[in-house]
Amino acid sequence: AKGLGKARYAVFDASMHAQAMALLQMETYLRRAIERQEFRLHYQPIVNLKTRELVGFEALIRLQHPERGFISPVEFIPVAEETGLITQIGAWVLREACRQMHEWQQKFRSAADLKISVNISPKQFRQLDLVMQVKQVLQETGLNGRYLKLEITESTLVENADLVANMLKELQALGIGLSIDDFGTGYSSLSYLHRFAVDTLKIDKSFIKDFHVDWEKSKIVNTVIALAENLGIDVIAEGVETSEQAYLLQELKCQFGQGYLFSRPLDSQATEALIAAKLEC
Ligand code: C2E
Ligand code: CA
Ligand code: CA
Ligand code: CA
Repeated sequence: AKGLGKARYAVFDASMHAQAMALLQMETYLRRAIERQEFRLHYQPIVNLKTRELVGFEALIRLQHPERGFISPVEFIPVAEETGLITQIGAWVLREACRQMHEWQQKFRSAADLKISVNISPKQFRQLDLVMQVKQVLQETGLNGRYLKLEITESTLVENADLVANMLKELQALGIGLSIDDFGTGYSSLSYLHRFAVDTLKIDKSFIKDFHVDWEKSKIVNTVIALAENLGIDVIAEGVETSEQAYLLQELKCQFGQGYLFSRPLDSQATEALIAAKLEC
């Protein structure tokens, strides 16, 4: 029995070791990517479901690694959060998204009213100078705060609620919009919708997937849309892939959608072409 215990311990140890190595390796990748400026932003259109008109974009980070190829943010953002590198990476995302949006607004009339949404991780709200950083970015890039929306998750609102409430108030005073990302997957306490003056809910794509054939899901989606409407909050459905979904969402009075049906996230060149052509998705 002793021998077995030892062997088990060795296996456990080996897998922990492998995990630690993978983490360390990813951290090294990220540090190098920061140094070499290998991050890019892609932009996914958000559309008015009824008119199919483009209303804005969500900025999504991309990392093309010289050896490993494309690395998904699903893989590296958690590591960036764990190692604290999200501070630097997040600051870059915010600046680049605002700079790019302002450039497009200057260049194209059709971009004048478009909004840019930027994902802000819970860890970024631990930086006490986040509000200062945002103010500085707006000032330096020239973007008016009313064209910027921050996407935060329910967990951000739950951790350090009082501090976050104050920070959000200051940001909202700059005209910045507040979206709750992945709505329905977290704490889903309804009280905060009012407390934090949320202006947009993004229904998580897990609820949209198959919701047109899943009675339970469609009831949930319907309830969220009705609730938001009562509170004067906009709703964006994430992960809209089929025209059936788009049709049903519109029937349920969901105003906005985002997903492969309309467009995949596009690199900056393709995004610019879309704006220039003033295409509807
Ligand atoms: P998210 O914020 O929920 O972003 C939406 C994700 O859904 C994106 O994945 C997008 O490409 C994907 N998506 C869009 N339409 C569809 C669709 O029709 N079907 C399906 N199946 N997926 C769709 P992506 O770009 O891989 O990003 C994954 C996550 O990584 C994001 O989820 C977000 O949590 C995080 N992330 C991405 N960029 C940033 C960033 O700049 N900062 C932070 N903190 N997190 C980021
Ligand atoms: Ca998001
Ligand atoms: Ca989301
Ligand atoms: Ca998500």
